[in-house]
Amino acid sequence: MGYSGFQVIKAGLFGQKGWKPVWRDPEPKAEYDAIIIGGGGHGLSTAYYLAKEHGLTNIAVLERGYIGGGNVGRNTTIVRANYFLPGNSEFYSHSLKMWETMEQDLNYNVMHSQRGLINLFHSDGQRDAFARRGNAMINQGDDAILLDRDGVREHLPYLDFDNVRFPIYGGLYHPRGGTARHDAVAWGYARGADQRGVDIIQNCEVTGIDIEGGVVRGVQTTRGAIKAKKVGIVVAGRSGQVAAMAGMRLPIESHVLQAFVTEGLKPIIDHVVSFGMGHFYISQSDKGGLVFGGDIDFYASYAARGNLPMKEHVMDAAMTLMPAIGKARVLRSWGGIMDMTPDGSPIIDKTPTEGLFIDCGWCYGGFKAVPGSGFSFAHLMATGNHHEPAAKYRLDRFRTGVGLMDEEGTGSQHNLH
Ligand SMILES: Cc1cc2nc3c(=O)[nH]c(=O)nc-3n(C[C@H](O)[C@H](O)[C@H](O)COP(=O)(O)OP(=O)(O)OC[C@H]3O[C@@H](n4cnc5c(N)ncnc54)[C@H](O)[C@@H]3O)c2cc1C
Repeated sequence: MGYSGFQVIKAGLFGQKGWKPVWRDPEPKAEYDAIIIGGGGHGLSTAYYLAKEHGLTNIAVLERGYIGGGNVGRNTTIVRANYFLPGNSEFYSHSLKMWETMEQDLNYNVMHSQRGLINLFHSDGQRDAFARRGNAMINQGDDAILLDRDGVREHLPYLDFDNVRFPIYGGLYHPRGGTARHDAVAWGYARGADQRGVDIIQNCEVTGIDIEGGVVRGVQTTRGAIKAKKVGIVVAGRSGQVAAMAGMRLPIESHVLQAFVTEGLKPIIDHVVSFGMGHFYISQSDKGGLVFGGDIDFYASYAARGNLPMKEHVMDAAMTLMPAIGKARVLRSWGGIMDMTPDGSPIIDKTPTEGLFIDCGWCYGGFKAVPGSGFSFAHLMATGNHHEPAAKYRLDRFRTGVGLMDEEGTGSQHNLH
């Protein structure tokens, strides 16, 4: 169905009736060539690229809830390619390039807005670290501009530059960074995959993985057993639980990450801004709400809601950086379940079971990875070979210690990402 201006006006005049679902609601078949467990951003994009790039169309995406109900519809929508280490740098660079053509490719408006991202720094040491990061970004072919204090002031005049503890020294500006409409990304990939014959099956929880002689044979679900030659696990915060169905113990902890949105305000923030002296980042949605978040809650949990101490921490940081925000009223907050790896970098790999693949460990940064991850995981599932930009995302790095990436430079300790 097209979305012409005429149709939008017509539907508006007649009570929004006449819109049809944009993907089918099929019954599960007895057997597929490939099954993707998890209908989040990564699962849907994997199915889409398996169909589009590799001609595999006898595929099902099995989702325990509804499309967009997981982290893909819960995140703060920041899209960027400002990673530092070899391995991450080329992957996120590739993913950002895919964002830049995604709307044309899907023929779907995901409201990708390259409004620019500014990471603030508050000391000489931090300036050095951001200068290094900026150089790594430029070497990778991405964009980075080191701003001094006056340069930041030109972009973000509403910040408190002279806070006694954390004065602003400058910022690293990434003009191609920005935001997108998160659930539209899920819907766009779902529609594109469905149009290519992929069965998207909601309310279908995988409860077991069938393995015979070291080879995957299919899955058990709340809607019956389904056979498959290949199975991909793409379940974000539930990765540990689903991998355990195949006898695997992953190096992953699940933690809650919260986010907040205020009432709709007139335009004030036209970039994405992150504070350098606490974990805090903010942007303004197209509806006018200030969307912001901070660090994970520091305990393992499967509850998609957070606790008060982290709320207080985030609000403190907001007030330190931008005191005017104290006038805004918070409309709501929510949480999502993060699949945290010890080195803060993801996993896209085969498993010891033949035909069983895994894509997980995106920590709190996997929204920006949706196109790149789906493309690379589809490549691995279809060809058996690692896709070059994602070649370092091996599972065995946690066993061998080889190829550990340690993006944040904090050492391999949980909760220090
Ligand atoms: C508050 C918050 C803010 C964030 N901000 C950003 C950001 O600004 N930028 C960024 O890049 N990233 C951000 N992230 C991270 C990003 O959202 C995630 O890394 C990413 O969405 C995870 O991949 P996904 O979309 O596939 O996950 P999900 O949407 O969670 O998809 C996984 C799906 O698997 C399903 N599933 C689980 N178990 C089963 C089962 N047994 N059977 C069938 N289905 C199952 C789940 O129901 C779920 O729908 C944020 C996350 C949160 C929560």
